[in-house]
Amino acid sequence: MSKISKILIGTHNKGKFKELSYLLPENLKKITPKSIGIRSPKETGKTFSANSKLKVNYFYKRSKIVSISDDSGLSINCLGGRPGINSARWAIKNGGFKNAMKKILLMIDKKNINKKKKNRKAIFVCSLSLRLSNSKLVIAEGKIKGKISKKIIGKNGFGYDPIFIPNNYKLTFGQMSKKKKMLMDHRFIAFKKLRKKINIF
Ligand code: IMP
Repeated sequence: MSKISKILIGTHNKGKFKELSYLLPENLKKITPKSIGIRSPKETGKTFSANSKLKVNYFYKRSKIVSISDDSGLSINCLGGRPGINSARWAIKNGGFKNAMKKILLMIDKKNINKKKKNRKAIFVCSLSLRLSNSKLVIAEGKIKGKISKKIIGKNGFGYDPIFIPNNYKLTFGQMSKKKKMLMDHRFIAFKKLRKKINIF
């Protein structure tokens, strides 16, 4: 497949934009939807993959530029997978990420009350879609397992990073260096799978 010279990173989320920019080749021109006056679509899908396809199709249709979009979120085992695909909306509904994280910690404590073995298991999921042309769509999914910390810790990253501790680590994503987190998270895993499917990055 022929190489491309520019790409639209279909997101208005600054944290995601930074991560995807970092993963993509340095010499590739990265375009934000904002810079060309494109807003976000309504996320009406019921799965991460349905929403990532919906987003990339929306951005490609309006820009006619090769586009990449993700849909991602944090699913917490004892909360029945919530906030899941509603991770961004949850933060808005609760007045920001700090409040949303506080609420999550309280909900987890409540669920685990009187339980000998506390369940704090969680997973970050990312569905990443790349639209190369009207007829060519590539999609990949990345997941990283971990647990929810007892407190909100760390100033790095974005979103729910300060409450997620990946398996085999002691630090939250929010405590890790940005680079370390970016090179191990759900978005990176999805990106590596995507890159394997095509040969343009
Ligand atoms: P959406 O994909 O635009 O629906 O938003 C996903 C939401 O999930 C983001 O706003 C964040 O709240 C959260 N999220 C996704 N990936 C990450 C991550 O790597 N770190 C922290 N929060 C994340």
